Amino acid sequence: MSRDRPALRAARHTPGAGSMPRYEHYIAGCWTPPEQGEYLASTDPSTAEPWYEFARGREGDAQRAVRAAHDAFHAPAWRELSQARRGALLRRLATLVAEHAEYLAGIETCDNGKLLVEMRGQLTGLPEHLHYYAGLATQVSGETIPGPHPAVLNYTLREPLGVVVAITPWNSPLLLTVSKVGPALAAGNTVVVKPSEHTSASVLELALLVEEAGFPPGVFNVVTGLGAEAGRAVAEDARVAKVSFTGGTSTGAGLARSCAGRFVRTTLELGGKSPHLVFPDADLDQAATGIVAGVFAAAGQSCVAGSRVLVARALHDELAHRVAEQARAIRVGDPLEATTQVGPLATEQQRARVEEYVALGIAEGARVLTGGGRASVPGLPGYFVEPTIFVGGDNAMRLCQEEIFGPVVAFLPFDSEETAVALANSSRYGLAAGVWTAELSRAHRVAARLDAGTVWINSYRSTSPMSPRSGFKDSGMGIEHSRHVMAEYTRLKSVWVETRAGHVDDPFILRT
Ligand code: NDP
Repeated sequence: MSRDRPALRAARHTPGAGSMPRYEHYIAGCWTPPEQGEYLASTDPSTAEPWYEFARGREGDAQRAVRAAHDAFHAPAWRELSQARRGALLRRLATLVAEHAEYLAGIETCDNGKLLVEMRGQLTGLPEHLHYYAGLATQVSGETIPGPHPAVLNYTLREPLGVVVAITPWNSPLLLTVSKVGPALAAGNTVVVKPSEHTSASVLELALLVEEAGFPPGVFNVVTGLGAEAGRAVAEDARVAKVSFTGGTSTGAGLARSCAGRFVRTTLELGGKSPHLVFPDADLDQAATGIVAGVFAAAGQSCVAGSRVLVARALHDELAHRVAEQARAIRVGDPLEATTQVGPLATEQQRARVEEYVALGIAEGARVLTGGGRASVPGLPGYFVEPTIFVGGDNAMRLCQEEIFGPVVAFLPFDSEETAVALANSSRYGLAAGVWTAELSRAHRVAARLDAGTVWINSYRSTSPMSPRSGFKDSGMGIEHSRHVMAEYTRLKSVWVETRAGHVDDPFILRT
């Protein structure tokens, strides 16, 4: 089945019946065929049909890309560019992304199955992120520090790190890429991006815009392929100074181990099992709508999906009923259609994983209140599942402890604020939480006690490039977004200057 998919500007269209558009790696400003001549196909999850090919990167490709980034980092064209000019390049890129937002959004929807309206929202918001990082480019500076003697000057330099590897998942490909590449370039680093094998196209299309914006060749490179091959090879190259990763916790832990052994810095944005806490004084309509959007949007394929609903016992049945009513009314269908509310899961494996967790929840003793099966969408044989609600479970169940990354939520009652907080924090993860209450003091008290990098009060899933994102516990390390992100992509050097003519320190006084 073929649908009206966007044109792929950066792909090569080989003439001939049945041939798919094909992407090469983007290395040192050139579209570069894979060393071993292998390609993989990307599948549209709505139609279950492959629609383009991309290069399968191996070690040799990874080395070429890292070498290009390494050379570009040391080349005057980038190294001697002023911070203001780096900012100007990012602003030009922001303008180009704004001009191409619609087609980039269409590509992402055909690649990961998320709603076109959602991807359009992300893509039209992306220039704001780039403008924000462009502003930060001019804010990077050191400081002067009072020395031990007025004649001794001590100052710091905030320097770029070198080659940054950005490894991103499939759920928000460009947004997550820009969250890494934006600050990395603003700080003066060069980058090699390895997108998910399921969503390479939009990142490769971004390469075209990076080129049009005027970044010197080699400053931005893309190597595609499988995580265990291309991803691993770029991350393990000895010339890499930093790995910035968003993805699953076990993949992140493996990368962290390998990087730690080489003293390579990491930023890790990992998984979650985020709770909603609904207190007796909550506005139930507001909470129900927030819970539905928080876990069923993007078919639950969001790191911050609110997949556990902890609710005051007296409200449990009423809230579960209201959320179930809304869940049953959700229009599951073609993500390109404006009226669709939930699209397919991104891959067949992801659907199998969701189905395994539904079966596991039932086997563990929880009860399906609504959903639990595949959703059928006329004319589309893709990976659609029904929004699913479990009740009658226990927080210790795997259903309530493990990240499903699908439209599945479990309701659990609590009897006191103390228990609610304890249940919320009884998780290996600490990414996000939602607090639903009309009581101001409770809202702040609970927010302060939650082990979560982001807490929303009477709302869910809002984000801004100016607000820090971080994961506590097994949800990650380091910070994305906000002014704090620049520390992640720079190193601090302390410089001491002796201004007294002819002065030499007493060599026998140990100073450090
Ligand atoms: P994975 O961890 O499987 O993959 C993430 C990225 O890592 C992909 O590009 C993948 O490539 C690559 N990769 C896989 N194995 C390796 C390896 N050995 N070395 C280097 N790179 C590797 O996660 P998913 O793609 O399944 O994404 C879903 C996960 O991402 C969820 O757990 C979710 O919570 C998390 N996530 C976290 C966010 C946050 O901000 N905290 C935001 C969004 C998602 P390939 O796809 O080719 O295998």
